[in-house]
Amino acid sequence: MHQMTLAEIARGLADKKFSSEELTKVLLARITQLDPQLNSFISLTEELALEQAKAADARRANGESGALLGAPIAHKDLFCTQGIRTSCGSKMLDNFKAPYDATVVAKLAAAGAVTLGKTNMDEFAMGSANESSWYGAVKNPWNLEHVPGGSSGGSAAAVAARLLPAATATDTGGSIRQPAAFTNLTGLKPTYGRVSRWGMIAYASSLDQGGPLARTAEDCAILLQGMAGFDQNDSTSIDEPVPDYSASLGDSLQGLRIGVPKEYFSAGLDPRIGELIQNSIKELQKLGAVIKEISLPNMQHAIPAYYVIAPAEASSNLSRFDGVRFGHRCEQPKDLIDLYKRSRGEGFGPEVQRRIMVGAYALSAGYYDAYYLKAQKIRRLVKNDFMAAFNEVDIILGPTTPNPAWKLGAKNSDPVAAYLEDVYTITANLAGLPGLSMPAGFVDGLPVGVQLLAPYFQEGRLLNVAHQYQLNTDWHTRTPTGF
Ligand code: GLN
Repeated sequence: MHQMTLAEIARGLADKKFSSEELTKVLLARITQLDPQLNSFISLTEELALEQAKAADARRANGESGALLGAPIAHKDLFCTQGIRTSCGSKMLDNFKAPYDATVVAKLAAAGAVTLGKTNMDEFAMGSANESSWYGAVKNPWNLEHVPGGSSGGSAAAVAARLLPAATATDTGGSIRQPAAFTNLTGLKPTYGRVSRWGMIAYASSLDQGGPLARTAEDCAILLQGMAGFDQNDSTSIDEPVPDYSASLGDSLQGLRIGVPKEYFSAGLDPRIGELIQNSIKELQKLGAVIKEISLPNMQHAIPAYYVIAPAEASSNLSRFDGVRFGHRCEQPKDLIDLYKRSRGEGFGPEVQRRIMVGAYALSAGYYDAYYLKAQKIRRLVKNDFMAAFNEVDIILGPTTPNPAWKLGAKNSDPVAAYLEDVYTITANLAGLPGLSMPAGFVDGLPVGVQLLAPYFQEGRLLNVAHQYQLNTDWHTRTPTGF
C-alpha cells in the first residue's frame, strides 16, 4: 500500500479498494516503525489524521470526489497548523502552537487531504543538508550516512522512503528542488506569488515560495492544484487563475525549445552528473524537443547576491522572535536587554545566528549601498538574463546540483562550501521563476536531479515535460533498499 502514488491512491479510493482510514493507519504504523532511522518527522498528528481520514471517507460515501480527498500528506514544519506545534526546526519555536492554519494547510485540508504530521527541516529553512535542525539531522534513505538535502530534508526523506506519497515544502534558494534531487523525487518551486505565504513562517520574504514534493510529476500536479491560488491575506499573492495542471500533462513535446546554458557545464559540476544531464537531453530530443545552447552571463554573481539578500531579509523577519510575544524565553532575565540577548542566544542555533549577523551587517548604515543595494542590482541582471533566454526557448534545462548528496557532517565546518552547492537553484528564486527537479539517474548509488526552469506561471509546462520524461524513463520509480 505504501508504494502507491497520490494518483494511484485517488483511483483506489474512488474504486473503494480501500478507505482513507485504512491507508492512514498503514502509513502511521510505517512511520512509527521506520522513521527512527531517518528522523524525518518533528511531530506526528495521529489523532488529527484519523479524524480527517474518517471525514474524507464520509465525504466520498456521500458522493464527493477529488484527487486529494483522503490523500495522506505531511507539512514542512514551517506551515502554521492550528493547535499543533509549528517549530520551524528551531528551539526558539519548540513550544509554539500556531493559533491558525496557514492558507496552504487550510486549502489542502478543505480538499480532504489527511495530515500525518509535521516534517523536519533546517532551522528557519536555512541550510542545504537538514543538519541545522534543533531536532537533529535527517538521514538520506538512499544512504543513511548521507544528507537528504535541505532545507526540506524531512519532507524529502519521508516521501523517498515511502512513509507517505507526498508532502509540502518551501524553496527560498533551492529547498524543494535540491532535496528532491538528493532523494530521487520530483519537486516543484512555483512562480513567486503562485502559492500563498500566509502562515508560512518567513525566512526571506521576497524569495520564499511553497510547493509540492512527491515521487512523480503527476503527483506534483495534484498537490500543487490544492496549494496554488490567490490569497487576499498575502499581499504578494498573485490574482491569476490557476490552470488545471493535470490536464496538460499529456501534451506533446514536439517542437519544444529547450535551452541549455553553457555556463552550467563549467568547472564545479561533477562530470558524472554532467553525463546524466546529457542523457536526459537526449531522451527529451527523442520526444521531439529541440535543443539550443543559451547563455546566462550573470549566473556567477547569483550566489554572493543571494547570500546578502536572504540573510538581510532573515535578519529583519527574525527580529520578531524576542522572547516577549512568543517563542523561547530565557530564565530570570535581569532586564529587557538581557531578556532579548539570552532568549535569542539560547533559542537560535549557530547557522541562524550567522545569517542574522550577516544580514544586519549588510543592512547597516554605510554598508547598505555597498552590499544590499548592489545585490539587488545583480538580482535584476539575473532576471534580465532569464527574460532574454526565454525569448528564444520554452524551458531551460540543467543539473539541479553540482554534486550528489554529501556525507553527514562533511560541510559543517565550512558554511561557504555548502552555499556554493546552491549555484543552480538560487537564480530561479532571485528571478521569481518556477523550477522543477526530477530524477535523472544515480552516481555511486546516490540520486541525481535534472532541473527545468520555465517563464512565469508556466508550472504546467514544467509538469508536462517532467511527466512525458517520466513516461519514458524509470529513474523516478526506483526505491531505496530497506524502504
Ligand atoms: N540553501 C539555501 C539557504 O541556505 C536555500 C534554503 C532554502 O531554500 N530554504 O539559504
